[in-house]
Amino acid sequence: MSYNFGVKKGEKVKKYDLLIVGAGLFGLTIAQRAAEEGFSPLVIDKRPHIGGNAYSYFDKDTGIEIHKYGAHLFHTKNEKVWEYVNRFSSFTNYRHHVFTLHEGRIYPMPINLGTINQYYSAAMSPKEAEDLVESKTEGAAKDAKNLEERAVALIGRDLYEAFIRDYTYKQWQTDPRQLPASIFTRLPIRFNYDSTYFSDPYQGQPKEGYCALFGAMIEDPKIEVRLECDYFEDKSLPKGLPTVYTGPLDRYFGYRFGILGWRTIDFKEKRYDLKSFQGCSVLNKSDLSDPSTRSIEFKAFNPERKEVFESQKTVVWDEYSRFAGQGDEPYYPIGTEEDKEILAKYLDAEKGEKNVIFGGRLGEYAYYNMDQTIASALETFKKKVLPMLKDGRK
Ligand SMILES: Cc1cc2nc3c(=O)[nH]c(=O)nc-3n(C[C@H](O)[C@H](O)[C@H](O)COP(=O)(O)OP(=O)(O)OC[C@H]3O[C@@H](n4cnc5c(N)ncnc54)[C@H](O)[C@@H]3O)c2cc1C
Repeated sequence: MSYNFGVKKGEKVKKYDLLIVGAGLFGLTIAQRAAEEGFSPLVIDKRPHIGGNAYSYFDKDTGIEIHKYGAHLFHTKNEKVWEYVNRFSSFTNYRHHVFTLHEGRIYPMPINLGTINQYYSAAMSPKEAEDLVESKTEGAAKDAKNLEERAVALIGRDLYEAFIRDYTYKQWQTDPRQLPASIFTRLPIRFNYDSTYFSDPYQGQPKEGYCALFGAMIEDPKIEVRLECDYFEDKSLPKGLPTVYTGPLDRYFGYRFGILGWRTIDFKEKRYDLKSFQGCSVLNKSDLSDPSTRSIEFKAFNPERKEVFESQKTVVWDEYSRFAGQGDEPYYPIGTEEDKEILAKYLDAEKGEKNVIFGGRLGEYAYYNMDQTIASALETFKKKVLPMLKDGRK
């Protein structure tokens, strides 16, 4: 059964097989696959652009690609996802490196032999450094009752206090002794000089930018996209269509079981007439004296864009993390015990929505990286959406 809606006399009849709420990576992947299988999806988003939180734009003054909702780096272990995204864009060979500012000195992250030797002003071998860190640890990680105890058991008190404690406090606005130990199962620490941030075999940035990648995903003319269209407010939307919903789960159910907790980020932009301000893309701030958690220098994600990279202009965003209130962009699910109880009720309520499939980070109240979002959307399409669409065609 395909659907015609709101057709006035003389107007061309438009048929949709599927409504997709949210033009983020989850919604776009579902739309691309649906069209590929011969179906016509209508994708809506309340924002004025596609790409969800991974959206980026090219700044008019500098030509720099700016990631509007925070820096996005593509990296994955999943070969299928890598093959999938490479259908729509080629990728640069960008490899991510992060540095951290602590008490007026810059250290490489994640903690590696370079960080350790610099911190202790030493020239230790891998074995010497491992023995030293081991001698600084306290207690057993498995017995830790909170995040601090776990971190100290894993990397010792010195490194924890220098690089983890205050940074974590700023990220969560919560004393690490009040945070669950489960936030860390392990803490990346390397006893060599490898400072590559991600260990995934497939990494890089889309060559023409994130939006070119997203645009290519929905090139098929069977896909229609409506922007600035809120699912809960636009009365002209077709009713009764099979729906993939990727908006906030609690909003879908009118917050009837309560509001799920999120963290958000405020960005403060700075512009400099300099080739480079900080010499790297991401500089963490590990001390409480600086309230921002990190600074992003966007042009450093794309050194291959020679003209922009060499120019005497740069854009830096400082990030400030805080609890999200109503109206803020939800970024990271908090997942307190109360949140988990509320989530369980919404997941139960979903069972009554036979025509709706919930997905994505907002629809599932989960943190997903981009590759995980795509993997989840591809799986959801195969297992749930395609059978639903085929059923509708019978
Ligand atoms: C600060 C930050 C940094 C990140 N960095 C990385 C990174 O470096 N690497 C990485 O792999 N991943 C990163 N991620 C994760 C990445 O952003 C997500 O994996 C991805 O955006 C999830 O896609 P999605 O479609 O599930 O959700 P979203 O991108 O949030 O898309 C959901 C869409 O639904 C729309 N919507 C919501 N409600 C409605 C409504 N009522 N009507 C219509 N539309 C609606 C929203 O406007 C939004 O566009 C980061 C996330 C954040 C927050």
